[in-house]
Amino acid sequence: MKILANDGISKSGIIALEDAGFEVITTKVAQEQVANYINANDVKVILVRSATKVCKDIIDACPGLKIIGRGGVGMDNIDVEYAREKSIHVINTPASSSDSVAELVFAHLFTGVRFLYDSNRNMPLEGDTNFEGLKKAYANGIELRGKTLGIIGFGRIGRSVARVALGLGMKVIAADKFVGSAEIKVDFYNGQFINVDIVTEPLEDLFKHADFITLHVPAQDGGYVLGKEQFDALKDGVGIVNASRGGVINEVELIDALDSGKVAFAGLDVFETEPTPAVQILMHPKISLTPHIGAATLEAQDRIGTELADQISSLLKT
Ligand code: NAD
Repeated sequence: MKILANDGISKSGIIALEDAGFEVITTKVAQEQVANYINANDVKVILVRSATKVCKDIIDACPGLKIIGRGGVGMDNIDVEYAREKSIHVINTPASSSDSVAELVFAHLFTGVRFLYDSNRNMPLEGDTNFEGLKKAYANGIELRGKTLGIIGFGRIGRSVARVALGLGMKVIAADKFVGSAEIKVDFYNGQFINVDIVTEPLEDLFKHADFITLHVPAQDGGYVLGKEQFDALKDGVGIVNASRGGVINEVELIDALDSGKVAFAGLDVFETEPTPAVQILMHPKISLTPHIGAATLEAQDRIGTELADQISSLLKT
């Protein structure tokens, strides 16, 4: 049975699928040719990430399709309900990248508390004699250990962030619209682990006590999660990270809060105007930036591939 992995798939995913008896095609087929290719090659499963769209027209044109698989979480590029109405399975791998996103959050936090974004840009060129001046400018870093991390959205990624924070010796407080509490398993390299119960708190309490805030909520219909009103309720000098969705922070009001010193730094992996963040965001000395790469690690890509392979094998086994 043939599988078209049109946006690529990890080697481990290919091996797992081939071991289960599938033929995996990794040719990149142009969007307008996808339906023809599926039919001409008797493809039964199409795997995509975010690039290839599997909309109603492709679903209608390909009656032999049995599974549409999305490597990762968001399924905006797939007509999920329509596919299911046509008895096509639609699968994704929502948990496979949580640890990778969580680690990127800490990359931004460490960057923020030690001014890495700015010091990288300002390191002296040959002949520049201001090395001591730079050392002084970046001398007031702080440690994460012992500080309080406020996690907004205590789902898969929020909990993974909690696990890392607890391992670093941070205090964790969390707020969630629907989750009341969660048990976090902090595991160590030698196989030992501890379980920590975290009961979520009202957002207002989190705002009062957090030294840093990290957002792990889906895109919101009802406006921003953080804007001026919320920034005003935060501790002075708070650090903020957003690796969830652009649009949950009001970026114009974030810049005001950074300029006034209310917010000490921000780390952004996602943007209101993705894929071209506003110039004020790009140029700001207190904002560290990454181009929506939270899930982009080799380990996450491996897990995505093998999770898809497991799901396909169990759905299509006879
Ligand atoms: P999840 O569904 O497991 O958790 C989201 C949680 O947010 C839920 O528990 C929900 O109850 C809560 N929530 C929703 N609205 C809220 C609000 N206004 N206030 C407080 N809590 C609220 O999702 P997840 O897998 O943890 O993903 C979280 C976000 O990360 C999503 O937006 C996802 O698209 C994004 N994401 C980003 C990357 C990246 O590359 N940066 C990768 C994967 C996922």
